[in-house]
Amino acid sequence: MQKERLQKYAELIVKCGLNVHEGQEVIVKAGLDQPEFAAMVVEECYKAGASKVKMEWDYMPIDKLNYNYRTLETLSEVTDIEKAEWQHKVDKLPCLLWLDSDDPDGLNGTDSEKIAKSGMARFPIIKPYRDALESKYQWCICAVPGKEWAHKIFPKLPVDNAVEKLWEAILSTSRVYEDPIEEWRKHNAELAKHCKILNDYKLASLEYKSSNGTDFKVGLNPIGRFVGGGETTLGTKIYFNPNIPSEEVFTSPMRGKAEGKVVSTKPLSYQGKLIENFWMRFENGKVVEVGAEKNQDVLEKMVAMDEGAAYLGEVALIAYDSPINNTGILFYNTLFDENASCHLAVGRGFNETIQGFEKMTSEECKKAGINESMIHVDFMIGSKDMSIVGVTEDGKRIQIFKNGNWAI
Ligand code: ZN
Repeated sequence: MQKERLQKYAELIVKCGLNVHEGQEVIVKAGLDQPEFAAMVVEECYKAGASKVKMEWDYMPIDKLNYNYRTLETLSEVTDIEKAEWQHKVDKLPCLLWLDSDDPDGLNGTDSEKIAKSGMARFPIIKPYRDALESKYQWCICAVPGKEWAHKIFPKLPVDNAVEKLWEAILSTSRVYEDPIEEWRKHNAELAKHCKILNDYKLASLEYKSSNGTDFKVGLNPIGRFVGGGETTLGTKIYFNPNIPSEEVFTSPMRGKAEGKVVSTKPLSYQGKLIENFWMRFENGKVVEVGAEKNQDVLEKMVAMDEGAAYLGEVALIAYDSPINNTGILFYNTLFDENASCHLAVGRGFNETIQGFEKMTSEECKKAGINESMIHVDFMIGSKDMSIVGVTEDGKRIQIFKNGNWAI
């Protein structure tokens, strides 16, 4: 990939994704796949005024060894050093950047039960730090191509060509052309416009129908709102873009209000395993039945992870004709695939989708209908013929999506 274009991407991530300000600390998490690009990003952070950039490298084969060889006890442990690191995050609010390049099959052959249980044990210890950090710091997830990931998407190409092709897909869907920062300014304005239209309708519920069998109704939160694109931190009031790319307009639905069946339209990569051709049935907001052609056991474990894992945390609207879907590529990566079509997520909801959340505690948001869970897993349900009708508080029916695309 041309160095000049990568430079633009690095600048986009730092200025528009994280929006690093003078004197801020930055933590960059990355795999070993693109060290030169990681160095470009680090340099951009310093140019933007970062006081310190800490690199955290990750290598999936080693994660796998850790999961396989360590006992459940040592995997569940949150050491004093880790706690001190979390506390540092709470005190200093460093920006957090993920340069994702994970192999979608990287954890195949690990014991998903052990991973899930250790996660469950660690969750309550880490939760107070996460609560203290919620909506207060800038973060961004974006992607760089890893060899295994590229090979998974383009198995017939020699690996170097596959990596190059994945670079192209990442950069084009992230709108890295002449002036990506200007592109993102326009894109954010467009997403904000969709949010405003939806919020002005005061929708009480959404009804989904699709020829693949999706027939589903979800209740929205009376004090909820749709958001999308950039966000602003509480306190420091810094505008940042948590996902590059991002096409979605989303909200957290009312906990306990979802009925009917949703059928997935893309496989779901979860804990290094691919769940294929699956569906879920909801009653009173809760998943009561699931089915999958492949890895049904993983799906069953996922929704039984904790009490909130069977309830919805997110409802997201994305046109079927999205730049990501139009690449025709299945990325096996949530950042891209979730932005390819309408999706739902089971698990944790987002407090910032409640109006006035700034003045509410997490507990109050939960009482107002935001779901809580240790997981948040997006899965795709958007299809070419999907219809979504919004029903307003006073019973008016509004066609929101028709044939998979925006109708408003
Ligand atoms: Zn989403």
